[in-house]
Amino acid sequence: MTSTLERIAPFQNEVIKNFQDPADVAAMEAALASVKSRFGAHYPLVIDGQKIETEKKIRSLNPADPSQVVGLTSSASKEQALSAIDAAVRAFETWKKTSAQERAAYLFKAAALMRERRFEYDALLTYEVGKSWGEADGDIAEAIDFLEFYAREALRYAQPQPVVPIAGEQNELVYIPLGVGAIIPPWNFAGAIMAGMTAAAIVSGNTVLLKPSSDSAVIAAWFVDLLAEVGVPNGVVNFVPGSGSVIGDLIVAHPQIRFISFTGSKEVGLHINELAAKTAPGQKWIKRVVAEMGGKDSIVVAGDADVDAAVEGVAISAFGFQGQKCSACSRAIVDASIYDEFVEKLKGRVAKITVGDPADRANYMGPVVNESALKSISEYIEIGKKEGRLIHGGGRIGETGYFLEPTVIADVDPMARISQEEIFGPVLAIIKADDFDHAMEIANNTEFGLTGSLYTSDESKIARAKEEFFVGNLYFNRKSTGAFVGVHPFGGFNMSGTDSKAGGRDYLLLFMQAKTMSRKA
Ligand code: NAP
Ligand code: MG
Repeated sequence: MTSTLERIAPFQNEVIKNFQDPADVAAMEAALASVKSRFGAHYPLVIDGQKIETEKKIRSLNPADPSQVVGLTSSASKEQALSAIDAAVRAFETWKKTSAQERAAYLFKAAALMRERRFEYDALLTYEVGKSWGEADGDIAEAIDFLEFYAREALRYAQPQPVVPIAGEQNELVYIPLGVGAIIPPWNFAGAIMAGMTAAAIVSGNTVLLKPSSDSAVIAAWFVDLLAEVGVPNGVVNFVPGSGSVIGDLIVAHPQIRFISFTGSKEVGLHINELAAKTAPGQKWIKRVVAEMGGKDSIVVAGDADVDAAVEGVAISAFGFQGQKCSACSRAIVDASIYDEFVEKLKGRVAKITVGDPADRANYMGPVVNESALKSISEYIEIGKKEGRLIHGGGRIGETGYFLEPTVIADVDPMARISQEEIFGPVLAIIKADDFDHAMEIANNTEFGLTGSLYTSDESKIARAKEEFFVGNLYFNRKSTGAFVGVHPFGGFNMSGTDSKAGGRDYLLLFMQAKTMSRKA
């Protein structure tokens, strides 16, 4: 008998659109108009399948023009968060007994529907978080990939698991779900990470509360609607937007919460980890925390590198989506022998970057996500101007949207603040290294360890970097961003998080526990 998994086509990544096809361009233009016509729509909480409008709302603004309200999401009170936990606890009793086949089928249907509505989702991301067309499509393609990948993974884990045979006994090991989880995603991969963490949890048999980022609650509301549309039963995914500090702590600390799946900043991740470690009265387990956090990612350019290729890789990694990727290159560590050439060429390359409303396809960079990001990044730019030599950018563009120039600061000390702290914006520090030893030392000198890249033509340097460059995702002669589901399982070391390797074969294990059963023959 062939298993379900064998009858399903092997996983393949969605191809990200480059919008060279006029049909794609027309479809995206139409989607932008259609999504714009729905600006200001209200999105309720969803608890046990019931839609609940609250008086208090979270306003999702278009960072390219914050006078435009993309949507208004209801904001859960503490009481509503508690009732969502009750709903998830009740739903778990039946959801945990549904087969992996049935659970996976919901994800396959959701992927198909998202694929059909791809441009609408792309357009929403362009407005809600300021992604260029290509970046928005990459995010949605990744969301679809996660649904397809985790569905297959759930089927794989549902197959008989290998245990060593022993005479006189029949033994088996099965993976069972954990219980009720809190899913807390960031805004920067508002489609992919939100959908991926939610899908992984439910396909493994858990029920969840999804607390989206307040900057990207509308796309999460769309996704929750889509799951209901494909038939995911009530109570399996409960949608509770709200302030992290008001309901976040309550959910994380609650004794009925079994696990927390978080992606976001180091500060919030550590706070959640600490809170979850404290046992609440009535709590029967040690909570499991998966926390994927910040980065301070380096691209090392060795003296023997193809400088033009390195310039291109650094520019794209540093300024794609305005540098607001956990994998963004925020430090170029460049060998002294090619330093001046690199800086000069990078300056020329960055000068070609277009900045403006991302709804206009001509713009490579859009706005940063909100006013507080604009403020904190601007502060870092001022610090950077003192810590190094400004060679490009350094200011705001216009007064309406949250636009910043791509900013490059050279001659930065490896221990300077802009070398060490996550800025999460379009700011790149260039650091000069005496030689390759020095470059490797600098590459490992932060508390983070997420992504990194090395440009070199020397095999022995590649071999050394494999040993020494301490990051969860290491690349050679390519950009440090753009991990593909299944191809580049993703997660970082040290203060970059728990190295969950999203989009990899170990990921679903984080949402399950194994039960071994032995029967005397
Ligand atoms: P953030 O400010 O830490 O927020 C992340 C999520 O946590 C949001 O949903 C936020 O809700 C919520 N939250 C805030 N306080 C909370 C609390 N006390 N309890 C529970 N939840 C709480 O991060 P962000 O600005 O959204 O995202 C950017 C960060 O994510 C960067 O540091 C980036 O490097 C990191 N990131 C890491 C990865 C990775 O794979 N390692 C991937 C993407 C992003 P509110 O919005 O309502 O505050
Ligand atoms: Mg917004």
